[in-house]
Amino acid sequence: MNNALEVRNLTASIGDLQILRGVDIDVPFGEVHAVMGPNGSGKSTLCHALMGKSEYTVAGQASVDGVSIMQMTVDERARSGLFEAFQYPTEVPGVTLDDLTAAMAESNPDDGAYAEREGETTRLLSMQPFRSRFVNVGLSGGEKKRSEMYLLGVANPKMAILDEIDSGLDIDAVREVAEMVEAMSDDKIGILIITHYSRILKYMSVDKVHVMVGGRIVQSGGPEIADNLEAGGYTELQAANA
Ligand code: ADP
Ligand code: MG
Repeated sequence: MNNALEVRNLTASIGDLQILRGVDIDVPFGEVHAVMGPNGSGKSTLCHALMGKSEYTVAGQASVDGVSIMQMTVDERARSGLFEAFQYPTEVPGVTLDDLTAAMAESNPDDGAYAEREGETTRLLSMQPFRSRFVNVGLSGGEKKRSEMYLLGVANPKMAILDEIDSGLDIDAVREVAEMVEAMSDDKIGILIITHYSRILKYMSVDKVHVMVGGRIVQSGGPEIADNLEAGGYTELQAANA
């Protein structure tokens, strides 16, 4: 069986600045992985490079369910089953959440289950009051993250990358987001959570943790890695990989 996501020797730079220095990650279907790392280590760049953001010069290989995405445009990557939830969700005045999901359904006419997933995800995340509001406009940090999770549930991707889905949230909201990720995880999706802090991992189980320092994965292993980071911080790893 294919992996949901396979990344091989991925590099990314902007101008003369090399940010990713050869990243390898496999996320099998049915698993939730976390990428942790200090600020500036390249975590968001990894998300954006995979999604196809145009300002990066990217090399290496990446595939979703066995299909290479490297030559695809952003919307082709999305259609092929890749989803990114943003660290800083964009406000879209004039476009409601319902407009957005209707557009998603219209551009995927072969997928007849949009209405069903809208209903289910609306109930799961208590989204009814937000669906007629403009996307992310005037929402609190936690509500914006919930809105991203709603789009994830409606889009039903093969591979979801959630960039700092827990940042800027109070502890109750972190727990809620963790529960949502768990609820959305099944054997038809791979999930990669990007996080700076290990606290979200207290409320959900992950299969693997990867530590990114200086644009490389310097350590991969079980969830116990997060506990070690909690105790020792990133300083030691940063010094060893400078
Ligand atoms: P993280 O998400 O791990 O905090 P980022 O991927 O956002 O890290 O950034 C990694 C490094 O790349 C940082 O030093 C950041 O300043 C730099 N960087 C990211 N995006 C750009 C950009 N558009 N222009 C210049 N530098 C950038
Ligand atoms: Mg980031």
